[in-house]
Order: sequence, then C-alpha cells, then structure tokens
Amino acid sequence: MTNPMSKCEWCRVEELGSGVYAILDLHGGWFRSNTGLIDMGDYTVVVDTQYNEIRAKDVLRIIEDLDLPPPRLIINTHHHGDHAWGNHVFNVPAVMHENAYRVASLLKDVAPDIYKPFFPQLDFTGAKYTLPEIVVNNHLTLTGSRGELQLYHIGPAHTVGDIIVEVPWIKTVFVGDIVFNKVTPLALDGTLKGWLRTLNVIQEKYRDYTIIGGHGPIANNETLDQLKYYLESILVETEKQILKGITDPLKIALSIKNPPLSDWRENERIVLNIQRAIMDIEKHPPGEPVSNLPELAVKMKKFSRI
Ligand SMILES: [Zn+2]
Repeated sequence: MTNPMSKCEWCRVEELGSGVYAILDLHGGWFRSNTGLIDMGDYTVVVDTQYNEIRAKDVLRIIEDLDLPPPRLIINTHHHGDHAWGNHVFNVPAVMHENAYRVASLLKDVAPDIYKPFFPQLDFTGAKYTLPEIVVNNHLTLTGSRGELQLYHIGPAHTVGDIIVEVPWIKTVFVGDIVFNKVTPLALDGTLKGWLRTLNVIQEKYRDYTIIGGHGPIANNETLDQLKYYLESILVETEKQILKGITDPLKIALSIKNPPLSDWRENERIVLNIQRAIMDIEKHPPGEPVSNLPELAVKMKKFSRI
C-alpha cells in the first residue's frame, strides 16, 4: 500500500506491514538506492540514508508524512556512499559492520565530487561520509516494543562488510546490495565466490520472506536464483578465458556469447565483475582494492558502446 502523503520524485513508498516501509528508487542505477523504515514502537530505524542531502531530507519528510516515531538509529548495510552519505542529515547514531567501518575510515576524506565527471546527471549536494558510532561484528539484536530486529553479517559478498536486517514480525529482510533486482549487481569491492555463498544462506533461511535489496524493486526467491546464475556464469566464463591466457576483462566480457541478465540495467558492470572474478580465481582477498580503476572505467565505457 502506498501512502499518497509520502510521494517523492525519485521513489515509491511501499508499506510492507506493521509500520515497516521500503522507499524504492524508481531507477535503481548508479547511486540510486533504496531505503528501509522500521517502526520499532517508540522510535524508527532507518536502513541506509541515500547519497545526497536532498534525498536524505526526502526520507525525513516521508517519516513525518507516515506519522512514524522519530528516527533514533541508522543502519548502513555497507559503506558505499549511496547507502551512507546522507547519515548526517538524521543526526542520530549509525551502525555499520566493522569491515565497512574500516573501509569508510580510509575513504572519509575523499570528496564525493570525484564522481561528478563520471555521473554528470547526478547531484552530490551535501554528500559526505559520517563515520558510524556503533560497529557490529557478526550479529546484533535491536529491541523495541514491536519486536526484536536482528542484524547479521554472513560473510564478504557485495563488499567485505555487508549486513542484513531481519524484521521477523513481518517476515521481511533488508539485505542491502547483496540483492539487486533488474539492475546488474556490482562485485568490484567484494567477491563473487563469497557472494554466492551468502546468497545460498539467505535463500535457505529466508525462502518465504519479502526481500528488499539495495537497488531495484522488491525481490523474491527467483531474484536470488537470477543473481546466483549471473555470478556463477561470470566465474565459469572468466575461468575458461584465463585458461586460454586471456586476462583482459573487456576481452573476456566480449567473449561471452549470451551474457547473463543482459536485459538488466547497467549491464556494462560485467567488465568490473569480471575483474573481481579474475581476482577471486587468483585467490586475492575479497575486497582487495583494484590497481587499475581508471583503466577499468574506460573499458566499461567501451563495452557499453559496443
Ligand atoms: Zn548501492
């Protein structure tokens, strides 16, 4: 159900039940992420805070429109700016996984403006890192009069510090960028192999749950199958080409006759995903920074033009 009071230009607000809402970005592409709102009884938890101040303020307005209790806590599903650069607007503590916190600490002085040349259509007004006050390891329980929220880190996947937020009383789980739907997943800062393991755990545990990913519409078990198929295909195709002595991610991408999920938005990300697949196969640690990012960005652009 959508509350007509809570419309916004870039999103649709879906009520999932019992004061739990998904704010779904209508586009889902680069930096256009989803947010969750969970009414705990006397306070609201905000899951991810958008990439700029304008959108974060829209989230605050939506909380008011929906007559939810005031936000008291932010959960950042991972460190990426599109999930955390709006934190300061809420003026409440934030929770992040310890690995995400570590990466965010390294990036905190990098101005989001560096992305402007790559994404001229996006507005980075007021975007900035605010480091979280609370750092979680593998599990945390948050209590409220409506029930207990469970936070888990399953393992490295989309990044090295992903956490999922289980809302048991309405069988819903916010999984951040472990799930993309109709938008190509991005594994560059994580690991394809670990991501597959994580998806299997989520699929096993939350088979009949509503799944809210970081980008795209509400997901389900079939979405998880599609993501697994995509990641598995990339690993298999990359391994084949490495055996032939080919290690250029663009060449490998172009060698795939029927690329998986090619009708999903931002499919040029395949080049970046192949780069991480190469690193997985060569046994680099998950999330190890790539040394050739500008070169990869050029290759990704080339792929989208071919
Ligand atoms: Zn994201």
